[in-house]
This record gives sequence, structure tokens and C-alpha cells, in this order.
Amino acid sequence: MASLDRIRTDGFRRWYERQLIECHAWLVSWFLGLIVLVSGIELAGAGSGSRFGGMLLLVGGLAVTLFSWSRYRLLLEIAERLGEQAVCPNCDAYAKFSTVAAGPIPLPDGGDPALENHGGGIWLQVKCRKCGNEWMLR
Ligand SMILES: [Zn+2]
Repeated sequence: MASLDRIRTDGFRRWYERQLIECHAWLVSWFLGLIVLVSGIELAGAGSGSRFGGMLLLVGGLAVTLFSWSRYRLLLEIAERLGEQAVCPNCDAYAKFSTVAAGPIPLPDGGDPALENHGGGIWLQVKCRKCGNEWMLR
């Protein structure tokens, strides 16, 4: 929710841009994890002395690739889902809205549990700055 609050404070375009930057940073992290994973496979298969180190690299690389991929997919999915609905149904203005209400209510600790759960229950009621039409993003 902390991330979605930025729509209200910074505007949708800026939030969307930041969301794409963050999600591609996770893609870079996935790629680095993949390099570590492959290095681990190679090291584990090389010799008896480096087998333990290779296994550690393999497990660490695997954890990084799996976590990074899930974050990348999640952030991209939410950005695309909200981005598709950011067009005013009345006048076709893109991302020219202000947030009237949002839910679920943002948590005080600033965590993103709603994002973690694939955006379940996230909604924004927005008002077009051009024509005054209100609609929901969910
Ligand atoms: Zn409009």
C-alpha cells in the first residue's frame, strides 16, 4: 500500500514510471542470480574441494532467481493492470486523475502486504481532472 500511496502523492504517471524501474531492477537481480546459479553448478561439478562452495552458490543463486522473478512478475502485473485502467472512460485522458479514495486502508508501517498478495483487494476511486468523471481502478 505504501507503493500505491505514491499514486496519490506523486501522480499516476510518476508511480507507473517508478514501478517499471523497480520491476526491471528485479529483472537485473534475477539475471545476476542466474549467473551465480550457473557458476555454482559449474563449481560443484568441478572438483571435490570446491563442491561445498559450489552447492552454496547454487542454492543462493536459486533463491535469488526465484525471489527476483516473483517480484518482477508481481510488480509488472500490477503496473500493467492499473495502467490499462488509467484511461478516463468518458474523455480518454490518460493518467489525468486525482485519487478520491483508496482501499484497503494503507497500513501505518508502510509495508506492501497487498502487493505481496497480487494486489488482491486493491482499489482506487479516481476523478478525471479533465472532465470530472469518476471511475474505479481495481
Ligand atoms: Zn475524463
